[in-house]
Amino acid sequence: MEWRERLWAGLGLGLVLVALAGCSLGHGRPRPGAKGDGVYHVVRRGENLYRIGKAYGVSHTELARANAIEDASRLEIGQRIFVPGGKRSLPVNLITPEHAATDPPPAGDFLQGAGVFIWPLASGTLTSTFGPRGRSFHDGIDIGAPPGTVVRASRDGEVIYSDALRGYGNVVIVQHAGGYATVYAHNEENLVDAGSKVRQGQPVARVGRSGRTSGPNLHFEIRKDNVARNPIYFLPSQTVQRAKDSPT
Ligand SMILES: [Zn+2]
Repeated sequence: MEWRERLWAGLGLGLVLVALAGCSLGHGRPRPGAKGDGVYHVVRRGENLYRIGKAYGVSHTELARANAIEDASRLEIGQRIFVPGGKRSLPVNLITPEHAATDPPPAGDFLQGAGVFIWPLASGTLTSTFGPRGRSFHDGIDIGAPPGTVVRASRDGEVIYSDALRGYGNVVIVQHAGGYATVYAHNEENLVDAGSKVRQGQPVARVGRSGRTSGPNLHFEIRKDNVARNPIYFLPSQTVQRAKDSPT
């Protein structure tokens, strides 16, 4: 048993050293096991610290600090990024849009009123619009509604993601024809699994306040080729009221 005791003593010393190394956040290179809870993310094409942070619900500044990255624009494909608090590696490309476009879609894509997309909630209050919000950008719209309200698929498609994520809470992502995808977040409960086909109007979730949100509401996105677009351009004439605006 002596060898085993020595092994344990050695391991203990190693753990102490590793723990000490973990105290100097922001200095030196990150080492596996040298930090608290978290996960390593391997950088893929098109990803940046902002998108990776968004997918994992960690600010890009925190990621930069945890990985001693001074120039956030110089991320290399294949580079390993330590994500504090991360539980498992996530498909960043699926979860976060590449960027957002504020201009109206080209004429051919201008679908408002065409009935291609429907509102995911029968009624509600538009509590936050698409566009710049403080120092970040809101990739969708928020619709306030009572917790438990049924969220419906905006269009026929296939569920490509249904899980809980920091920030987004319970989120469902549905892929549609023509390079479109819709995102339904902060759900109390997801009602569909990844891989299942959904029909327009089919319940996919229930409104909740999971993730980073101030109250029960649906965060809804429409993406075209992974670029976030203003959903208002694609939805039929409003059936939800704008917060503060008086209904007409
Ligand atoms: Zn939102």
